[in-house]
Amino acid sequence: MGGTTERGNVGTSISSVVPSFHRSNVLVIQTAFLGDVILTTPLLSVLAARHGPVDVVTTPAAAGLLEGHPAVGSVIRYDKRHADRGWQGVRRIGRELRSRAYSQVYLPHRSVRSAALALWSGAPERIGFADAPGAISYTSRVARPETGHEVERLLALARAAPDEKAGVSLPLTDEDLARADTWLASHGVGPRFAALAPGSIWGTKRWPYYPELAARLDRMMVVVGGPDDVTQASAIAAAAPDRVVNAAGGLSLRESAALIQRAAVLVTNDSAPLHLATAVGTPIVALFGPTVPEFGFGPRRAGDVTLGHAGLTCRPCSRHGPPRCPLGHHRCMRELSVDAVLEAVANIVIAEESRAICPRN
Ligand code: SF4
Repeated sequence: MGGTTERGNVGTSISSVVPSFHRSNVLVIQTAFLGDVILTTPLLSVLAARHGPVDVVTTPAAAGLLEGHPAVGSVIRYDKRHADRGWQGVRRIGRELRSRAYSQVYLPHRSVRSAALALWSGAPERIGFADAPGAISYTSRVARPETGHEVERLLALARAAPDEKAGVSLPLTDEDLARADTWLASHGVGPRFAALAPGSIWGTKRWPYYPELAARLDRMMVVVGGPDDVTQASAIAAAAPDRVVNAAGGLSLRESAALIQRAAVLVTNDSAPLHLATAVGTPIVALFGPTVPEFGFGPRRAGDVTLGHAGLTCRPCSRHGPPRCPLGHHRCMRELSVDAVLEAVANIVIAEESRAICPRN
């Protein structure tokens, strides 16, 4: 989630979350952005169905989300930006992996660092994408599909058969949901509220009209995000102080996911909350500016809505979205109207409510 951090997860450690008699032979190294880690859960599920729970190397931010996942044995935190920065960190984690004697390592993340970790692990089989910079060090190179959703592209790594498909998943515990419910109740938020996720690491992916949306949306709203999103969240809350409650910067990732699970709808940019909502089954209105869903990171659920400016020749302009619009006008987001988002939210809420009354709709 743009800027959201899992509180209390720092440094390097291995936390066993399965009975001590299970020792995984299979390791997955996924230290990309949080959204990428969430979209890797189907791959983890497919591998776990074949081999039992698999171990995962991931970032401290994502580790808290994977702990407790039924497809995951141990979560190995690799703090590549801080405690484990540089080649010293690679060596340290690599030695730790070697001591666990994996037979197979899967590399959905195409970084050279991940390839180096796989080599250090000493695993005889290292399976990754053929277009990765470190592919020469793999023992098995898989062609990365050029089209399709990222979930299917990652599943290609396991050469998953059609009957092995698994969905994006994030099993929340009763405690996670209870904490979200307590938070909502203590802030006077009842059911059928809308969650708003205005953040993104990349500036041009941020839709600028969340405050205007909040001023016109006739229901309770909760703003979710990390510490970096607090200023934006405050502006949104100021636009409708009687209907907006700010959770940005105040909840852990698991609590944020549980809160999104309780929402009637999530309005989000092309960022990690979109994938959290996919994992917990909450309907989505996704706002795409400089990127497009065809990159493989759009919503997956039937009934979700994706909005983007269809008439701009400059769009898409980059894979992640540049910090600033190279043309200076940022029309891809500025011309995405509040009316269109309000209509999408209304359509989703009506469809969900009619499904609740008549499940066959
Ligand atoms: S160049 Fe076009 S697509 Fe890219 S940020 Fe600017 S308006 Fe958006």
